[in-house]
Amino acid sequence: MKCDPTLYRGAPPSLAVKPRLLRHFLLPPLIILLTIGLGYAGYRISEHFSIRSLSENGERQLELHARTVESELSKYTYLPSLLELESSVSHLLADPNASNRVTVNQYLEGLNRRSRSRAIYVLDTTGRVVATSNWRDTDSYLGEDLSFRAYFQDAIRGQPGRFYGIGSTSGEPGYYLAHGLEEQGKIIGVAVIKVRLEALEERWQRARLEAYVSDENGIIILSSDPSRRLKAVRPLSAETKEQLARSLQYYWWPLNELEPLNREHLSEGVEKVTFAVNSEVITDQQQVSYLAQTRNLNDTPWDITLLTPLQDLRREAINQGMLVAVAFGLLAFLLIAWNERRKVIATRLAAREALQEANNQLERKIAERTTHLRASNERLKGQIRERRLAEDTLRHAQDELVQAGKLAAIGQMSTSIAHELNQPLAALRTLSGNTVRFLERGDLKVAAQNLSTINNLVDRMGRITANLRSFARRGDDQGQASLVKAVDAALQLLTGRLEESAVELHRDVQDVALKIDQTRLEQILVNLIGNALDAMQGQPSPPRLWLEGEFSEDKYRLHVRDNGPGIAPEARKHLFEPFFTTKPGEQGLGLGLTLSASLAAAAGGNLSVEFPAAGGATFVLLLPLVQPAKAEPL
Ligand code: ADP
Repeated sequence: MKCDPTLYRGAPPSLAVKPRLLRHFLLPPLIILLTIGLGYAGYRISEHFSIRSLSENGERQLELHARTVESELSKYTYLPSLLELESSVSHLLADPNASNRVTVNQYLEGLNRRSRSRAIYVLDTTGRVVATSNWRDTDSYLGEDLSFRAYFQDAIRGQPGRFYGIGSTSGEPGYYLAHGLEEQGKIIGVAVIKVRLEALEERWQRARLEAYVSDENGIIILSSDPSRRLKAVRPLSAETKEQLARSLQYYWWPLNELEPLNREHLSEGVEKVTFAVNSEVITDQQQVSYLAQTRNLNDTPWDITLLTPLQDLRREAINQGMLVAVAFGLLAFLLIAWNERRKVIATRLAAREALQEANNQLERKIAERTTHLRASNERLKGQIRERRLAEDTLRHAQDELVQAGKLAAIGQMSTSIAHELNQPLAALRTLSGNTVRFLERGDLKVAAQNLSTINNLVDRMGRITANLRSFARRGDDQGQASLVKAVDAALQLLTGRLEESAVELHRDVQDVALKIDQTRLEQILVNLIGNALDAMQGQPSPPRLWLEGEFSEDKYRLHVRDNGPGIAPEARKHLFEPFFTTKPGEQGLGLGLTLSASLAAAAGGNLSVEFPAAGGATFVLLLPLVQPAKAEPL
């Protein structure tokens, strides 16, 4: 069976190739680009949200630490004003003698110890130190002129003096709080307290907090990282620098700028800054990014800045970005795999459908062919029926014809019948004459033999007449015959002629029982042998007759051959036609072969003729065996 190739439809090549090319050459770089892009986006988003969360957290931290710094500073704000209440101080300022100074010095010393401040001292209106808590120290401020200090200048004007600076005597940094001492509405001097703020720095360091406080000049005055201390958070002009140097606020510090490698403004008071740091372990310069959050410290011009390292955040963001990239890569892979699988399934389904369609077509064709076959079968059956009917009609007509032919033949056969009967009658006459003579001579034995022969001849004649009667009647095809007996009887009947012609007889037949009436078989044999004798009559060479038999499956074949003149080619096709004869005058009726063939056919056999190359004629009689077993030859 051939499947219809049109069932396997493919996409047109121009349409099928392009998407495949696109898929093979554009898809992988596209997926890689998308993976990188999404990874980067994941990184950025993660960074953004982490910064937001960090800055919220940082804001709280900043608030907390700002409060701490504010409370640390405010702790001392009341102290200088307290000295206003101390009479010894006003006495000293009114009368700066040695005993008043000692009293105030001792008082200040005790106060300083209790308040844990760095130093407490009193200036007169000219800015000279008249009493100090560190009066015993070698680097005591006593007698020092501090009129240039901004805190003094503020305080003397009645404003609170707030100042961070490095001590001009000790060189130590400190927070100065100054207060103008009033008496009867007039400022008589200035009380100053110098506070240490290192404790804040230490606290930050312990808490591993990175923070710094920058003053009104943008100079870092407090820092968890000592390297950032006294550095400018914003660029200082040369003029400002010079001014600050002259004020000695920061002593002789160079006030270098805190130079970040990168500074990115994120929102109000929030920046992303990157510093270069020298790692102790790794000699290469490294970068550290911070989230810098700044706010003002209440009641001061100072700002506190909290630095939150972004390293962890960056690492986290990179991880998130990579996670996104990997997730996308995996998703893309799964999608491609799913798509490929979907295509395979679709192809399989299409193939199955095509197969199903081909199958359906085949079944349709088979059904069509079966219908055609059934129709032609029916037609054939009809034809067979018609043919059988025609055959029956033909056979009937043939039977009728044969019967008519037989009746017609009988009239013409009377001469032959007379001839057939005359022969035994002549024999009877001779035998009976002889018997009388033998009886007269008293030779009873020969007479008895003759009488027996006479008896047989009379039987034979009776059979001939009976046979003619049966020939005239419709045939009875039942019965069985012994071939040997039939041959004997035929030869017996033709003894006279055989002897007369001195025929050389070759007999080789088996003792078989054949499905034919005994008399009919004898009748056929008499006809065939008689014809052979007729043919061989009057020829110069000695006549020879062969009677030879052989088995042929369930039949037996008898060859009756003579060495006569044979049969002329023009006569061959007419041999079995009724009334065909070449014999002169009354000798031939032309019925012998016709009747013999008819009897053989009625018994289920047939009669045919062969023309041996050696000459003569061979008539072949084929008859069915009663028992198809092979019999031993006689
Ligand atoms: P009839 O013997 O009356 O002629 P048959 O039907 O027996 O009729 O024979 C028909 C013819 O067949 C004969 O006339 C003869 O010419 C031919 N024929 C039959 N047998 C032989 C034979 N053995 N050799 C030659 N011719 C034969």
